[in-house]
Amino acid sequence: MMKHIQRMFPSEDGNREARYELLGLFETVLAGMDKRKDPKRLILGKEEDVSADYYQRIIDQAALPEKGLGAKKSVEQLLNLLDGHRFLNRQYVANATPLPNHASLAGNLLMALLNGNNLWDVDGTAAAKTEVEITAMLSDIVGYDRQKSTGFTTWGGQGAVFQSLRLAIANACPEANEKGTPPHLYAFCSELSHFSLYKSMQAAGIGTDHLIRIKTNDDHSMNLADLREKMETVIESGGLPVYVLATLGTTDTFGIDDLAGIRRTAEEVTAKNGLPHIYIHADTAMGGMYSFFNEYHFEENPLGFEEEVLGVLAFYQSHFRNLSLADSLVFDFHKLGQTPYATSLFLVKDRTALRAVDLDPDETPYVGNRGFGSYHTSYTLECSRMGSSIPIYASLLAFGIEGYQELLANYIRVNAAFRRKLTEAFPNAAVTNGISPVTTFRFYPGVVRYQDEISGNITEEEVLEINRYNEKIAETLGRFRSQTYFGSTKKQRYVYPVDSRSPVPLYVQKFYSVSPYTMVETVDEYIDFLKAHIEPLDVMIG
Ligand SMILES: *Cc1c(COP(=O)(O)O)cnc(C)c1O
Repeated sequence: MMKHIQRMFPSEDGNREARYELLGLFETVLAGMDKRKDPKRLILGKEEDVSADYYQRIIDQAALPEKGLGAKKSVEQLLNLLDGHRFLNRQYVANATPLPNHASLAGNLLMALLNGNNLWDVDGTAAAKTEVEITAMLSDIVGYDRQKSTGFTTWGGQGAVFQSLRLAIANACPEANEKGTPPHLYAFCSELSHFSLYKSMQAAGIGTDHLIRIKTNDDHSMNLADLREKMETVIESGGLPVYVLATLGTTDTFGIDDLAGIRRTAEEVTAKNGLPHIYIHADTAMGGMYSFFNEYHFEENPLGFEEEVLGVLAFYQSHFRNLSLADSLVFDFHKLGQTPYATSLFLVKDRTALRAVDLDPDETPYVGNRGFGSYHTSYTLECSRMGSSIPIYASLLAFGIEGYQELLANYIRVNAAFRRKLTEAFPNAAVTNGISPVTTFRFYPGVVRYQDEISGNITEEEVLEINRYNEKIAETLGRFRSQTYFGSTKKQRYVYPVDSRSPVPLYVQKFYSVSPYTMVETVDEYIDFLKAHIEPLDVMIG
């Protein structure tokens, strides 16, 4: 009776027949995917028509089978999901989205096969081990003391921001866990930081009115004078600064906050006012991988990088070497580290900080509080936790520091080439950020007015008109995204036009070269794509 059900599972005794059954399913998936690949197009197979009633039709047609299809037929059915899906080949230049590497895919499979629960080492033996191991490895990279630090994998860079805010609150106000968050706490971040903190302020109950946004400099880093001034204002009105989010690699422009300067400012303000330590979380979700260059020898240049690339990397090193000044940070491997979602390691400098949020053993009766098992994570917001340290571990072993250095340097090399060719091909385009894995750029209906925009030598209506022009271009390009997918953002930075009292955001196009198949040799293809779709839009160009 149960036999045919058992055949749907991995074997108990490791027999070859069951293994080949499973391998056959994998072969079906891999072959189905390969059959649909085309390096000239972003999407797999044929395009799906996602018309207005697409999801309504799915709701109407969804039917749970009375009699199961069995593994083989259902996996064959899964292949339909491939059609129209983007694949991270050279045509994807929209965002920091990974193409998971082979080792991380095998690691992910091993994780799923073991299916340990990372909550507790008795249940998630393998992932507990790799979590401790990668925490030690990456602590060394960022300059934390591996004997004092700790870390755990969590739900993304967003999860790291939330958990760090929780640590900041619980450590600043030990009573907050029982009595609720007091009404005088404040957090600070740059106006270009990720929305993760905004959401966390809502969820943690401090409220977004208590999130103070700091102006940015022209290089998209936080303005320290504005930080100091706003902290002082908060303190004067009876508030308590408890948290600063320092972004190293802003999501759209790769701006790098001056972490050492932020730490210095926070210390000076607290010393002057006799206040406790301010928690700083380095939001390194986007940029953190570049700490892999912290020990790179720029004079010897063992990997032979070009001058232009070296210049950018040396600039990153000067900032990422300060990471140990942060109370916590994050490695989002599923961004520039090329692993599957979600593979994020939240790293905490001082493990004793977690005591403030750890649950009493009485509250966790079925884990930890036992005679067996010595690793349980009742301080995480998750209960059951996937073992995503395993694919991270696999990837770290496979690439090593050098392999990652080559991958990360190539993102920069390609961007340097792209921005040169872009401004050659389009006299009406301005590049609006520094060389990094992403290029933000803006088209103008006439001459380039970027300098006027950032110096305030322009009217609000003129900026808005250029914004509309860029929005139209982004919509046009977006219609051809099954071939090549460029990104765009409605808020690259703020500018202050002469006649406007409030800041106006700039709409820009984005080129994010993150696929290993994006090479200097492929840059002409992107320029040709832009030419093909932008020129007809406006006769003034060209
Ligand atoms: C992407 C990003 C986040 C959010 O990370 P997820 O892994 O998507 O949750 C947070 N901060 C920055 C700067 C980011 O770029």
